Amino acid sequence: MFLIDFLFPKACLSCGRLGSYICLPCQRKLKSIEGKYCFYCGGESISNYTHPACRRIGGVDGLITFFQYGRVLGRIIKNIKYRGVKGGLNELISLVGAVNYSAMMKMVDKKASREEQIRVSFIPLSHQRQARRGFNQAELIANAVAKRLGIKQESLLVKTRTTLPQANTKSIDERKKNLQGVFSVKKIRRPFPSVVFLADDILTTGTTIREATRVLKRAGARFVFAVTLAKV
Ligand SMILES: [Zn+2]
Ligand SMILES: [Zn+2]
Repeated sequence: MFLIDFLFPKACLSCGRLGSYICLPCQRKLKSIEGKYCFYCGGESISNYTHPACRRIGGVDGLITFFQYGRVLGRIIKNIKYRGVKGGLNELISLVGAVNYSAMMKMVDKKASREEQIRVSFIPLSHQRQARRGFNQAELIANAVAKRLGIKQESLLVKTRTTLPQANTKSIDERKKNLQGVFSVKKIRRPFPSVVFLADDILTTGTTIREATRVLKRAGARFVFAVTLAKV
């Protein structure tokens, strides 16, 4: 046992039981996502791709999401974020089934030839928020996914200003406006990675991922796949 565990014993981020960040009974309550969904319409989709009819210019090409958002997961994610429990996120990610990673590898095989550049990246936080929180959940997810897939992680985007939390915006229009022009690429480079797995924590309306994808594609990405820990 490390001294740190002795001073601050690990407690379940959902129910408070001592021993680990996600206790076994709570692990069992997490719902892994078994189906494959279209990013835009939420309907079932073969091999995680956006339906041809839902596809749009500069849009998201596919979605991989690990868990269905529910009460237990909601509490865990909230505690990781606001109490800064990084270890909790790693425990959560370690519960992601191998099937998700093989699905991602298949997406890459189909869309990218070997010479093409593939990267795992993430939705950035503004400087202020990152400084306050100490870490970015989306970046940690990207790190874990990149390691597991053996693909390089690269921070491709910057957030140029602080926005209202999306939860505080009411209409879709308001959400869009809140995000307009908020992301830009870190540096213009040629060639720009052609396939990007873009990580974020929770997929709700998808406005953030759409806006980030638009920017990545304008910079030269050919395919962008969203990777989220959970989906509402
Ligand atoms: Zn628990
Ligand atoms: Zn669709």
